[in-house]
Formats: sequence, C-alpha cells, structure tokens
Amino acid sequence: MDVKKSGIRKALPVLTFTFFVFALILVWCFFTLNHSNFFHQLNIRHFKYTSELSEQISEPAELFSDDNPVKLSEIRQTILNIRQQPIECLSMIGKTERFIMNLVGTEMVVDICKRDLESANKSLLALADYESGILSRQLLQEQVIASLKEFRSNSTDFELPVEKTVKFVANITLSIIILSSVVVLLFAVFISRAVSAGLTSREEAMNALEESEKRNKELAHTDTLTGLPNRNLLDLTIDSAISRSDRNSLPFAVMFIDLDHFKDINDSLGHTMGDRLLVTMAQRISEAIRATDVVVRFGGDEFVAVTDCFEAIETIDFIAHRILKAIEKPVRLGNNESYITGSIGVACYPQNGANSSLLLKHADTAMYQAKNAGKNQYQAFDKISALKQNRKLKLVSQLHHAIANNEFSLVYQPIIRLVDGATVGSEALLRWTNIDNESIGPDEFIPIAEHSGQIIDIGNWVLQQACKQCKAWHDEGATHHAMAINVSSHQLKDPSFAQRLEDILVSMALPAHCIHIEVTENIAIMDEQACVASLHKLSELGVQLLLDDFGTGYSCLSYLKNLPFDVLKIDKSFMPANNTIATTIIAMGHELDMEVVAEGIETNMCYALLKKLNCQYGQGYLFQKPVPATEFDIYKHYECTASA
Ligand code: C2E
Ligand code: MG
Ligand code: MG
Repeated sequence: MDVKKSGIRKALPVLTFTFFVFALILVWCFFTLNHSNFFHQLNIRHFKYTSELSEQISEPAELFSDDNPVKLSEIRQTILNIRQQPIECLSMIGKTERFIMNLVGTEMVVDICKRDLESANKSLLALADYESGILSRQLLQEQVIASLKEFRSNSTDFELPVEKTVKFVANITLSIIILSSVVVLLFAVFISRAVSAGLTSREEAMNALEESEKRNKELAHTDTLTGLPNRNLLDLTIDSAISRSDRNSLPFAVMFIDLDHFKDINDSLGHTMGDRLLVTMAQRISEAIRATDVVVRFGGDEFVAVTDCFEAIETIDFIAHRILKAIEKPVRLGNNESYITGSIGVACYPQNGANSSLLLKHADTAMYQAKNAGKNQYQAFDKISALKQNRKLKLVSQLHHAIANNEFSLVYQPIIRLVDGATVGSEALLRWTNIDNESIGPDEFIPIAEHSGQIIDIGNWVLQQACKQCKAWHDEGATHHAMAINVSSHQLKDPSFAQRLEDILVSMALPAHCIHIEVTENIAIMDEQACVASLHKLSELGVQLLLDDFGTGYSCLSYLKNLPFDVLKIDKSFMPANNTIATTIIAMGHELDMEVVAEGIETNMCYALLKKLNCQYGQGYLFQKPVPATEFDIYKHYECTASA
C-alpha cells in the first residue's frame, strides 16, 4: 500500500508536467493549422489580384495614357493589394514556422513571398517614377508587365509547400493527440490500478485490523486456559442479568464456586495436572448449568455462575446441587484418580445486592460460609453471618499490629486450694483492647487468631509475660505460686514449643513445676503426632499439664489414658456442681489419680459442695474476678461461709 502510494506520488508531477507540455503543443498546433488556412486564403487572393492586374494592363496604350489617370490609380491599388498578400504571409511566418519549414524543406514559401513583394515594390516604384516624369510610359509598361511575369503564376508552387507544412503540422498534432491520449490512458490506468490496489490493500488492512481487534476483544474477555469468559466480562454479564431481572420482575442468582483443597492437588501433582483439573471442572460446570446461565472463570480455582431469571427459588438448589455433583465425580489426572469437591456461595438479586460488586461480594462471603460449614455444599448469603465474617476479617487485620502496639495485657485469677482457701496459684488470662479502644474477649479473638495462625506469636507473648509475672511473685517470696497458662492446641503443633518454654524457664531460673499448661481438648489436633510429642516433652520438662474445659468437647477418655495430663479442669458450665457430670468428673479424677480444679465457682454454696466432693482446687468470681497483677493478692485466703 505504501509502495503504491509513493509510486503515485512520484509519477503524478511527471505526468502532470508531460500532460501540460502536450497541451501547450496542441494549442500551438491548433493556431498553426489555423495559419495554414490563412495562407491558403492569401494565395487565392494573390491570384485574384494578379488576374485583375493582368486584365488592367491588357490594353497598355489606354492604360497609361494621360487622360486615363483613374486606371493608373486602379493599377496601383491592385499592385498594392498584390503586395499586401506576401506582407501578411511573411508577418505570419515566425521563427517556429521557419524552423518547421526548414525541417520539412518548404522554405520556398518565404522565397516566393519575398519575390512577389519585390516585384510589387518594383512596379510601385516605377509608377511613382512615371508620375514624377522620371520614367517614360513605355518603360513603366515594360516594368509592370515584367512584374506581372515575376509574380507567382503557378498556384501549386505556393500551395504545395504550404500543404506539405500543414500536413506535417497536422501529423504532429495527430501524433501528439494519440501520444497524449496514450499517456493519459496509461496515466488513468496506472492511477486507477494504483487506487484500486490501494483500496484493496486498505480494505485488506481494515479487515486484518478488524479481525485482530475482534481477536483481542475475545482474548481480553476469554480465559485462555479454560476457554470460559473471564472476570472482565463478569460485570457486564451481571449488569445485563440485572436489567433482564428488572424487566421481568424475577430474581436471578450469582453463584461463587470455589474448589476445595485445590492447592493440595497443585502441590502434590504439579501445576500441569492442576491446570488439567481446572479445564475439566470448567467443562463440567458449564454442562451442569442451563443453556441460559453463564459461567465465568473468576481466577485460580474460582468460578462464578450467573443464572438466568427464575420463578421458583428451588431452581438455585437444583443448579447448585448439579454443580456440586459434577465437581465431585472422580477426575483422571495422569495415572491418578483424583477426587475434589466444591463450595458454593449464592447471592440473589435483588435481595442480596443491588449491583454486581455487592452481589459478587456477598456470594463470596456465602462461599466462605459454605467452606466453614464443612465444604462440599452451598450456602445462601446470610446477612448476620456476613457481618460476623466482616468483623472477623477486621479483627484479623487488627491483630497483626496488636503486639507491636502493646494492645495485649494479662489479667490473673487466683486458684484456691479448696480445703483451706489458700491462694496457690493463678491463671493468666489474655485481654485485648484494640486500636478502636474496644475490649475484645479471648473467646472471640483466640479462635480467630488460631484460624489465621497469629496464635503462635500471641501465645509466645503470653508465655513470656506470664512466666515473667510468676518469676516476679516468686521473687517477692511466693515461691509456692503456680502460674496456669492457656495454650492453644495449635501452639502445641509447633515442635519447638516445649524447647521455647524450657528456654524461658532457664533464662528466668523458674522451676518447671510452677508452670501449669492448660490445653483445651481439640480432637482434631490433639491426635496429631506433633501435638502428642509436645505434650510428652512438656511433661518430661516437669511442667504440669491440665485438660481445660473438661466435659464440654468430645471428651475422650483415651486422652486421659494415653496423654500425660496431671489435672482435670471442670468447665464452669457444670457449676454449681450439684449435677451428675461434675460429681462424675471429680470421682473419675480421683480414680485416675489426677487432681481436679473446678472453675466458675460463684457461690459459697458451690464452694462448700466442691469441698465436700473432695475437689482439690477451684477458681471463680466468688474468690476474685481476673485482675491485673498489681491488684492481685498472692497471699490471700478465702473462707467458705456455707456448708454443703
Ligand atoms: P478458660 O481457660 O476456661 O478460662 C476461664 C474463663 O472463665 C475466663 O474467661 C474467666 O474470666 C472465666 N471465669 C472465671 N471465673 C468465672 C466465674 O466465676 N464465672 C464465670 N461466668 N466465668 C468465670 P476469659 O478470661 O474470658 O477467657 C475465656 C477463654 O479464653 C479461656 O477459658 C481460654 O480458653 C481462652 N483464653 C484466655 N486467655 C488465653 C490465652 O492467653 N491463650 C489461650 N490460648 N487462650 C486463652
Ligand atoms: Mg483455662
Ligand atoms: Mg476453662
């Protein structure tokens, strides 16, 4: 296209110039041809006047007589007329004409004209001489007759060269016309071909551009791995579903689909197999939805299905189950048969969000609810759970800075030897006042920290602080004082946990038996090898191990048999202890040769009852609520004012 364009650009001035020159020559030829016609007229006139002169001088006696002066003037006029022809003729023969005549060999036209002019001049001179008396009538007569003879007498002498010249010019003109026509034609052909080639290549370029734009658009909206529309198209899809829903006054659903444990497959079988699994899942989900629904790959192992409007809410249940069923079918990945499940969160328009970003956000939240509820299921968006989820996320982010910001503190609740009411130790309980100055209870933030993994750092901080406080009280003389520290089973999974505690104890020169580690039973984690190992190491270290909140979880008697727990701690929910569970736990503790601590003692009645049941230790609001170390009385005795 560019080459052709530049060809046109170069040819155009040359062609225009050529065309202009030809046009000039044509104009010149036109005038020259016009002249030739005039030459012809002059020739005719010449013969008209010479025959007139011939007639006038046919009777010379009468002609030149004195009494016939009129005739003399007529003769003069005729000679003047004759003379006028070559004059006009010569005036028309310019340099160009002379050049052409030389070229064609017709320069005799000029000679003829000159000769005629000379003869006419001679006769006119003779007439003048006669009138002035210098010349005799006889001589005049002879001169005029001689002149008449000298004038061209043969018309062809003049006509032929003129004809020849005219023909030459006519031929040139014709050639120029033909040549210029050919040039113009060639020029037109060249231009039209160049233009049409330009147009074609322009059309081709436009088509190619359109094609590539279309392809780019498709690529921008298509996930290259699965071939599904990608998230760029999601807003558009939801927006058009919203307009459809508004028109029909019918709801539709946005389903956020996430594969469960996809990371495990990626990690164990590699990314190629992971990709293959995603392609299979994309296909299955596409087949599970209806033709009018759309599924989009949101990213990673996440897909979003946007359903068409529906009349019955059961449609969601139907589609979600079909998707879950499609996902859970076994997948062949190389030599392995893999099994995977999915979790789906559903948000409906208009109930759960008025625009695409809200619907997506809420479907995503619901998906997390499905995951938390055990995976391989779908959950519809629920506002209260969503608020809880949001708060959780906020707390997770705030917890990141809590240690550095000194937002944590420990409070201590006395542990009483029930038989005499003596304070034998204390339980360290964690408190958090966040950046918004809000006090958040450990029951709320500990599970969150466990889930996010932040419990490890927080637990280490507690360990350090509680041991420090215990050491301080020992230094004050209360060397009998035991410090109970709550430890999450997640912390026990860390193989270096026991070592860390030992390091602290050594660095503070604190005897291990003063430290009581309270662990809440957690069947899922306690069975883990690393957890069991930590418990044994701690026991070997000499610290006391307490099974906290005993009786609330999936209390498993095998723990008591196989794990080195020294003390059982009855959960406060069994107080005031006048119930079978409390009495059974106390009796069981005695049977197993374990000490028993009762928590949540709020009344003297309860205190008396526990005393009667031979429960060794207790703690509760009756004695003291958890207080900062500064308010804690390490030597305080508590009297029981009731009897069971
Ligand atoms: P827990 O270890 O069973 O702690 C006893 C809880 O009972 C404490 O609640 C305490 O304030 C409360 N309590 C004590 N006496 C009474 C009473 O007479 N009546 C009633 N109604 N409650 C009483 P708190 O401090 O809110 O702690 C709740 C739970 O948070 C703890 O239960 C423990 O599981 C966990 N926790 C507290 N601090 C830590 C910590 O530093 N690390 C870990 N991992 N967990 C902690
Ligand atoms: Mg405890
Ligand atoms: Mg407890």
